[in-house]
Amino acid sequence: MKNKELIEKLNKKHSLSFEEWEQLLSTYTKEDYEYATNLAREIAVDVFGKKIYFRGIIEFSNFCKCDCYYCGIRKSNKCAQRYRLDLEDILECCKEGYENGFRTFVLQGGEDGWFGDERMCEIVKAIKEHYPDCAVTLSLGERSFDSYKLLKEAGADRYLLRHETADETHYGELHPKTQTMQNRLQCLKDLKTLGYQTGCGIMVGTPGQTPKVLATDMKFMEEFQPEMIGVGPFLPHKDTPFKDAEKGSVELTLLILSLCRIMLPKVLLPATTALGTLEADGRKQGVLAGCNVIMPNLSPISVRKKYMLYDEKAGTDITAKEGIALLSQQMEEIGYEVVVGRGDFGKENEND
Ligand code: SAM
Repeated sequence: MKNKELIEKLNKKHSLSFEEWEQLLSTYTKEDYEYATNLAREIAVDVFGKKIYFRGIIEFSNFCKCDCYYCGIRKSNKCAQRYRLDLEDILECCKEGYENGFRTFVLQGGEDGWFGDERMCEIVKAIKEHYPDCAVTLSLGERSFDSYKLLKEAGADRYLLRHETADETHYGELHPKTQTMQNRLQCLKDLKTLGYQTGCGIMVGTPGQTPKVLATDMKFMEEFQPEMIGVGPFLPHKDTPFKDAEKGSVELTLLILSLCRIMLPKVLLPATTALGTLEADGRKQGVLAGCNVIMPNLSPISVRKKYMLYDEKAGTDITAKEGIALLSQQMEEIGYEVVVGRGDFGKENEND
């Protein structure tokens, strides 16, 4: 089958075989790319209209016990200046977000033992008490089933945990042996079982990633049926083992995003900060390739530069207000409108 036919098949059946994925990802042409991104944009407009959900991301700790080879806040990076926000700081970020129309707060951090279940549940409950009409998304890495359960009971609605890759060999190229793919995938299953709207995802262009690896990832996402997918380019950080590695490509990232949209038409799909870092208008391009979510940074300016996952991260020297204004303007420039609302999966026709 020709690549264009494979894209059409994906659009009809929402599924391709592993071999079909591999063919598409290893032999796609400029025309295939354009066909996929245009189709994905049309699907996103059909499902969501020209509407973009904003999620306010609060990077509340950069302490991390993990040692992922790609990540700037990995445990072994002795140059990283570590910080934690307290409950008051976090609520202050939410206030700013709420006043700007945000109805989802994403709490993201390294795997920081200081934020055990009791502290984390206290934070989730406080946000829900202050902002009962808002969704809370957590992105705290791997925790136990019981921990995820407690956080859900405290009021958390969604959880983002990129699987990073579903290819075991490639997982081993990106992580030390103490971090296993089995555990990461088990966490994702646990989150779904507990009723979270669950997000998985990958970086595009990690060292050693091949079309076969990407085919494995697409197949995994097809089977897992996530409610959200996070896909952004890999970008090197100067104090990590991957400091000399090549950046991921904009085009391949946009292709993968568009194929995610075609495969899972209703999935919540952010145009990521990493995409906006790789190219100034990366997030616009993401939306034009089928993304429907943008995650402006609500973290206090004083800590922005410390949550450096990769070099030259976009938006670290502007305030939350400036960042929101810039991203809203970018969306307007391409004819999209930022909407106030929780933007839950499957409720795209509801006005909150
Ligand atoms: N600790 C949580 C976790 O592991 O899911 C959340 C924080 S972690 C820093 C969030 C995501 O950042 C990771 O899932 C990874 O895909 C992405 N990331 C880390 N380093 C990156 C890099 N150098 N380039 C692009 N994305 C990166």
